[in-house]
Amino acid sequence: MSKLFVYNTLTRQKELFEPINSPHVGMYVCGPTVYGDPHLGHARGAITFDVVYRYLLFLGYKVRYVRNITDVGHLENDSDQGDDKIAKKARLEQLEPMEIAQQYTNSYHQEMDLLNVLRPSIEPRATGHIIEQIESIKSIIDNGYGYESNGSVYFNVEEYAKNYHYGILSGRVLEDLTSNTRDLDGQSDKKGSLDFALWKKATPEHIMKWSSPWGEGFPGWHIECSAMSAKYLGNFFDIHGGGMDLAFPHHECEIAQSQACNHHTPAKYWLHNNMITIDGRKMGKSLNNFINLKEFFTGNHPLLEQAYSPMNIRFYILQAQYRSTLDISNTALRAANVAYVKLLNAYKLLDKLSWQLGTEVNSTLELEIESCIAECHAGMNDDFNTGVAISGLFGLTNFVNQFHLKQKDINSISENAFNHLISTYKVFFKDILGLKEEKLVNADNTIAALLGFYQEAKANKQYDKVDLIRQVLKKEGIVVKDLKDKIEWAYEA
Ligand code: ZN
Repeated sequence: MSKLFVYNTLTRQKELFEPINSPHVGMYVCGPTVYGDPHLGHARGAITFDVVYRYLLFLGYKVRYVRNITDVGHLENDSDQGDDKIAKKARLEQLEPMEIAQQYTNSYHQEMDLLNVLRPSIEPRATGHIIEQIESIKSIIDNGYGYESNGSVYFNVEEYAKNYHYGILSGRVLEDLTSNTRDLDGQSDKKGSLDFALWKKATPEHIMKWSSPWGEGFPGWHIECSAMSAKYLGNFFDIHGGGMDLAFPHHECEIAQSQACNHHTPAKYWLHNNMITIDGRKMGKSLNNFINLKEFFTGNHPLLEQAYSPMNIRFYILQAQYRSTLDISNTALRAANVAYVKLLNAYKLLDKLSWQLGTEVNSTLELEIESCIAECHAGMNDDFNTGVAISGLFGLTNFVNQFHLKQKDINSISENAFNHLISTYKVFFKDILGLKEEKLVNADNTIAALLGFYQEAKANKQYDKVDLIRQVLKKEGIVVKDLKDKIEWAYEA
């Protein structure tokens, strides 16, 4: 296996990737909170870890990829106060919370399928794991790091910090955190301002609640990931991923919970993808630049000058390394599409190229090709740098085009070199980067043009052409209807 280096947020350095129990790899990624249509931030997170997943599979690892669905407990402003995001939406739309969760889980799946994001091995829901979460909370209390207060349960950060480093992942210092936190207002049930909720008491009007040893309530946001990752991947697994905005407090709290519960940090490598900005500004409802994926795919948003296909979006995201910021603009997306189509066209040529034994091997040419191939691998091995891998593919694209146009003699490279070129291109384009040809789904324009030729041919009494066009359309299941005053088409029964 080639050597893969990953940047570990926990140690702040690139490390050689060595799974705990090779060839098995356990990977947990924080999935969406399902109360709204997925947007570009969702796309970047999902595509980042999709490529990690795909590359690990390519390297021969047996990966169990767990990505959760948060369908309860994520309160507004990521805090311990306020409404549950899903319950609030349910109230506004007068639906069951589960209808909201299902509706947006469905749209998440649909959009991610369009982006060619592979489904995870296990996709657990927080509401399906209330018992596991209660058990984890009990252990945390038993081990002395949690306390009940007025029907809610909180994690005792001060107590935890006596034995462990709270802030280990995000690099934050406890004293700074404490001084930055507003003083408790006296209304709170917490002992310390940094304490976070493991279980929240439900008010009578709260619609999503379960019974527990502490009364009716619902789990805090962070505990679901600790409970579900441990259930499916064990107390210590290989990769924990998510967006950079989750490193604190969500992942920091997950580490604290796992230490308190299982006496172990949950994961060996912590990977975080960076955020997306639009025209240099953070995405946000208040800035009116909050564009969801459906709007990108249809072009139906005032900031968009046109529609952008899912592969256009995917390719754009892949052009950057996942840890760098990424800014979206109409100009940049159009440029990405030009580049993507260039790769796609070369990909479509691969099966048309044929090789025959030549008289002489051009070893310089072979070396040039091998150096592009090496660039593809080196990019991915350097912390999944898809931008570098794409640059290697562009190098190969030039050779594919030159061979196709006979500007270079394909028979002047060895059969091995030829096969290596073809297989590398296919594997990187399709399997690792997850790119694909998007079939034109709207054939109306093509059919209309053909019917125009049909009408013209008929008027000129060119009946061989008329028959030919009928045959072409028939092959596609379309029948031409000659009406008195016009020509129409219908699906053939
Ligand atoms: Zn999580």
